[in-house]
Formats: sequence, C-alpha cells, structure tokens
Amino acid sequence: MQGLMMDTQLSVQLILERAKQFFPKKEIITRQANGTHRYTYGDFYKRVLQLASALKQLGIKPGDRVATFAWNNYRHLELYFAIPCIGAVLHTVNIRLAADQIVYIINHAEDQILFFDACFAPLVKHFAPELKTVKHFVAMDESPIEELRAESYEELLASQPTDFVLPKIEDENMAAGLCYTSGTTGHPKGVLYSHRSIFLHSMAICMADMMGLCEKDRAFPVVPMFHANAWGYPFASALVGATQVFPNHFMQPRDIIQLIDQEKVTVTAGVPTIWLGIMALLEHEKFNLENLRLIVIGGSAVPASMIEYFQKGYNIPVVQAWGMTETSPLGSIATVKSNLLSLSQQEQMSYRTKQGIPASCVQIRALDDDGKEVKWDGETRGELQVRGPWVAKSYFNTTERAEAFCDGWFSTGDVVTIDSEGYIAIVDRTKDLIKSGGEWISSVDLEIALLSHPKIQEAAVVAVPHEKWVERPLACVVPKPAFIESFGKEEVLEYLRGQFASWWIPNAVEFVKEIPKTSVGKFDKKRLRVMYQDFKWPGE
Ligand code: ADP
Repeated sequence: MQGLMMDTQLSVQLILERAKQFFPKKEIITRQANGTHRYTYGDFYKRVLQLASALKQLGIKPGDRVATFAWNNYRHLELYFAIPCIGAVLHTVNIRLAADQIVYIINHAEDQILFFDACFAPLVKHFAPELKTVKHFVAMDESPIEELRAESYEELLASQPTDFVLPKIEDENMAAGLCYTSGTTGHPKGVLYSHRSIFLHSMAICMADMMGLCEKDRAFPVVPMFHANAWGYPFASALVGATQVFPNHFMQPRDIIQLIDQEKVTVTAGVPTIWLGIMALLEHEKFNLENLRLIVIGGSAVPASMIEYFQKGYNIPVVQAWGMTETSPLGSIATVKSNLLSLSQQEQMSYRTKQGIPASCVQIRALDDDGKEVKWDGETRGELQVRGPWVAKSYFNTTERAEAFCDGWFSTGDVVTIDSEGYIAIVDRTKDLIKSGGEWISSVDLEIALLSHPKIQEAAVVAVPHEKWVERPLACVVPKPAFIESFGKEEVLEYLRGQFASWWIPNAVEFVKEIPKTSVGKFDKKRLRVMYQDFKWPGE
C-alpha cells in the first residue's frame, strides 16, 4: 500500500528551519579569549544562509566534502548546518591526530575546502602542501591569513545575502556528515552519516528515557565537535531549541566547570577522563553546579565511584552511555528501568555501571566464537553486534574491515554480556582483553576497580607478554597528588585481591605521572602496550 503518510524527507534543514522559526531568541554561547560571544538562533540562521551562499560561490556541489578543523564554537556550528543544508558533506577532522593521519584523512575524503580555527594556522601550514584536493583554505576569523592564502571567514560571509534560498534536500538518505574513527588498527576509516540518520539520532537524544534533551536545557557537550559530532548534541539541541554552550579551546577542568557554573548549564556530556580531572578540582574548590540535571558519561567504562561522587556530593544524576563513531554515536544508555527501582542501591548501581539498554531503533545481539548468538544471562560473553537507522552500513570508500558489516549487522569489536533485562555490559574491547594461560582477563573490570580507590587519580591495565602465561596484566597507576609519598604498590594489589580471583591480580604495578590519552581523551592503551612491551616482570 502506498501513500498513507506524507513523504517528508528527514533532514538537517528541517532542524535548522525549526530552530529559526520557533526558537529564534534562544542563545548560542561561546567562550572566547576576549570574553563571551553570544547570539541567538535567529542571528545564527542568517549567518548559516550567508555561509551556504558562500559555499555555493566557492563551487561546492551536492555530495562534495568540506572539512572543518576547529574547536567547539559558534562558527563551527554554522558549518555544521550550512554544509549539509546545501547538500554537501560536513567532514569534521580530528585536530589531535598526527599530521600524517590528518593528511591521509583529508586526501581520502577528497575535501574541497578546509575551514580552520586561526590558532591552527601553523599546523595547517605544515601539512597544507600535501593536501591533494583542497582548493580553498578559510580561516575562521576576522582576518585572512596571507601566507596560507586563506580567506577570512568573516569577510567571506560579509558579502553574502542573508536571504539565500537553500536547495531542497530531495532525499533523506543523502550524505550529510563524515567522521573518521581514530584508527587503532589500519588506516582511519570514514563513517558517512545521512540526513535521515542525523535527524533520527537527534530525536533519540531528546527522548525522555535517553537524555531527555529539551527546550529548557542549556547543553554543553564537553565532547569535541570533531569526535562523533559532539555526540550529536549540536543537532539535537537545535531541534528542540536548547541553549548551546561552547568552550572553544578552554578545555581544562577549571575552564569547563566555570563555564558550567557561569552559564547555568543543565546537561553536559564527556568521556570519564574529563570527569576525573573535574573531580580532582572539586576536592579543593567550590563551584555552583546546582543547575546541572544530568551528566552523560561514555566513551569508556564509568566507575561506580564517579557516579556516586556526583550523586551523593551534588545530587546530580550521572548516566552512562555506550556508543561508537560507527553508531552516530548513541548505542545504549544505562538508565535504570522502573521495575528495577525496588532493588537495593547497590544492586541498582550494578545496572548503572553497565552500558545499558539499546536506544530505541537500535537492535543488539552478541555472538560467540562459533558465530552463535549467546544467551542473555548476564554471564556468557560474545562480540556485540548492532543494527539500526543510525548505524553505519559500511566504511566510506574502502574495503578495509569490510567483514565488520555482515548480514545487516555491524560487529563492534566489544566483548560483552547481555542480561535478562537487556542490559549490555562491556567486558573489554577484543584488542584489550588479556590472554593469560588460555583464559581471558578483563582490563576494564580491573581499571574500574582501581579508579574506585580513593588514592588513585588515573589507572589503566594492559597486557604485557609473559613467558609462561602468554600475557599478564600490568597496572599503570597515577596516585592522587596528596598520596604520592604514602601510597605503595602492595596497597594497590591488596585492594584488588579483595575483589578478584588470584589469577586476575596484576603481576606488577607501575606508578606513572600520567596515563597517555588518545586524540579523543580516552586512556591510550595501545600506546601503553607499546611502552611496556619489553617490561621485565619482577623476579624475571
Ligand atoms: P575510538 O576507537 O577512538 O575510541 P570511538 O569513540 O568510536 O572511537 O570508540 C568506540 C569504543 O569506545 C567502543 O567500541 C567501546 O569499546 C568504547 N566505549 C564507548 N562507550 C563506552 C562505555 N560506556 N563503556 C565502555 N566502553 C565504551
């Protein structure tokens, strides 16, 4: 049967028009070196049209990729909308990658224009000669940058009409965005988002049982706009007319918490390492966090101690979310279902520290080594597979890791259990599991336990080769500054002995100044593994 409902094409344009039509007075706020930049969705809309017109003039056609290389700020938000709204593809390049990876990504995407924050001019100058397809460089600033032959963003916009008519997005399946994964193995791989996937993903973020983002919210994702579209917040916020708060490059814990305080932020989101830094700061300084109604933490496993810290100390709910660049990224969220609320606090916590139940429209299953679906008993492990309207169907323009997409499912590389309530629990990433004498040890479980120790600031556990057992766990620990002198390695091991079987206990503990971080701020276990590959075990 045909023709039951109108065939409205879901698109980023729908989001933009709604923001302008119904929320023109709501604010977009960006911290800058010289104060705070504030304007409204109404002002924003006119500039998006000017930018769209400029993009057309620069020769951008539907399907062309346009790169951004920038912090979270209002100009970046304008690019987020103008590029897809003329049918082109917003490619957010990760500024923290090594120059050769940046060059690979931009050349692979065949980007036509590179928009960059002026502070990155020296970096851009360094890799610009190697870019094969970029025809225009635009500095997101008042002035051009002559030595790069980069135009000024503001000058580019100034001459454009504010009533440019956006072309119709005829097909919701057109590409709108492109993000590359950070490429722990092989080359970085691109994930293309469609207008439809961005729209549906935005709706999911706004569902009450997800993050319930709404018009009243003042949203501040501490996730970079070059990392999985800042977890979808810029689009979802515009859809509901929420106030948006951007930190620019002011990303230190004090900057973040001050912005939350000053701008009365209600919803924020970021990876655990960000919150570890903030918790350390809150030990010594006071800030007003009373407007915060929700902290979403994801990207790595969240320790119970972190959830309790904000809950008990500040009465702010922390919700854990799981996702990947390939899943837009919202995959699952660990809200506690009402039938579980009669459980003890401790039992409820065991659900909140899991990665949660899938977002609506996302389906899950876990397969064992023989490709059989594992039971949802909370114990049997398998590799998590997902499918849904905002899950990638393939990687962009490559056959690398094509095997991850099979029978309409995407294999995540995460080893999980699923319980009878449908809660996913990540045991580990396949590549981080520690293979000890034919058995698997979960580095995540050990890390979560270590991070709950009151004297530990950061911790990561990695596999190190072992003559007898193939691999054994090594714990790398950063003690909190107040305990550097008084904290011993034996104390660390003793703490774990109370919680894990003896063969799980790391063979050694290394005290380090800092755990290296990935380009998106997670503990960089790949780097740690390389650093310690020749580690001599005690007694060897
Ligand atoms: P990267 O490879 O750069 O980390 P992503 O940001 O796409 O790229 O990371 C996705 C991976 O992060 C997931 O496959 C999973 O291993 C991990 N992850 C994401 N959220 C969580 C979470 N809440 N708990 C544990 N691991 C998580």
